[in-house]
Amino acid sequence: MSTSVAVLGTGIMGSGMAKNLAKAGFEVTAWNRHREKAEPLAEAGVKIAGDLKEAVAAADVVVTMLFDADAVEGVMGEALPAMREDAVWVQSSTVGLPGVARLAERARHQGIAFVDAPVLGTRQPAEEGTLLVLAGCPEDLRERVQPVFDAIGSKTVWVGELPGDGHKLKLVANSWVLSIVGATAQAIDLTKRLGLDPKLFLDTISGGVTDCAYAQLKGKAMIAGEFPPAFPLSGAAKDAELIVDAMDFAGTRSALMEALAAQFRDAIDGGHGSEDMASVIAAFDAGGQDRASR
Ligand code: NAP
Repeated sequence: MSTSVAVLGTGIMGSGMAKNLAKAGFEVTAWNRHREKAEPLAEAGVKIAGDLKEAVAAADVVVTMLFDADAVEGVMGEALPAMREDAVWVQSSTVGLPGVARLAERARHQGIAFVDAPVLGTRQPAEEGTLLVLAGCPEDLRERVQPVFDAIGSKTVWVGELPGDGHKLKLVANSWVLSIVGATAQAIDLTKRLGLDPKLFLDTISGGVTDCAYAQLKGKAMIAGEFPPAFPLSGAAKDAELIVDAMDFAGTRSALMEALAAQFRDAIDGGHGSEDMASVIAAFDAGGQDRASR
C-alpha cells in the first residue's frame, strides 16, 4: 500500500512539492484556500480536495506549506481534529521560532506527531525536487518522513530533535540569503546612480572571491527590472521580521537585519509585494529624500 500525503497550500512552493510527491509514487491530495490554484495539479496525478477534512482524513503524512504561522494555525485548527491518530504533520512553512512553538503545541494537544521541516530553495528547486530540508523531530519519527523529504529535496539536514531546531538553521540561512539580495540591490543601485553601467559591478566581481551565483542571478533581474516571483517580496519581509525576532531572542544586535526589513517594507509600500524579492531595489528610490530630510 502506498503512503498517502496531503499537501495543504499550493502556492509557489507547495505546487512543486505536491507534483514531486506524486511523481515519486505517493498518493497525493492537495488543498488550497483558493481551489483554482490547486486544480492544475490534477494533470500531475494529484487529487484536489474540496475541503480540509477530505484532504487530511486518510493521510499518513500532512504537509503544510502556507504563508505564515497565522495561516497555518487557522488551517490546522480545522485539519488537526480530522487527521488520523497515527498520522504525522510535517510543517514546512517558514513561521519563526515562536510560530513553531505555537504549532507544535497544537499538535501535542491533539496527540499528533510533529516534524519541524522548513526548506531552503525557491520555485525552481521546488519544481525540480531539489530543495534542502532542514528538519527537527524525535529520532524515531525520521524514517517515517524521510521518503517524503527524498521526494521533495536533494538533501535532508537533521538538525536536532526539538521543534524549532530545523527553523533555527532556516532563519540563519535566510539571514544570509536576504542579506545577499539587499547588498546586491545596494551595489547595483549605487553603480547606476554614480553614472556607471550597473552591469560593470557584476562583471567586476565575476569569478573573484567576492562573487556569488545568487548575486549574479538576482543582480541580472534587478538590472533588467524583471521580477517574476520565485520568492515574493512579501515573504522576504515576513522572514526578515522573523529573523529580527530570533536575533532578539538570541541576545544579539539586530540593527542590520532591521534595516533590511525596512527596505523590504518600503518596496512593498511601493507596490512590489507580489514581485520577486529582487524588486527590493525599488526601495533605494527614496534615498535622496532621506538625506534631504535629515
Ligand atoms: P505563496 O506562493 O505566496 O503561497 C502562499 C500559500 O499560503 C498559498 O497556498 C495561499 O493560499 C496560502 N495562504 C496564505 N494565507 C492564508 C490563509 N490565511 N489561510 C489559508 N491559506 C493561506 O508562497 P510560497 O512562496 O509558496 O511560500 C510558502 C511558504 O514557504 C512560506 O512560509 C514561505 O516563507 C516559505 N518558503 C518560500 C520559499 C520561496 O522561495 N518562495 C522558499 C522557502 C520557504 P491562496 O493561494 O489561496 O492565497
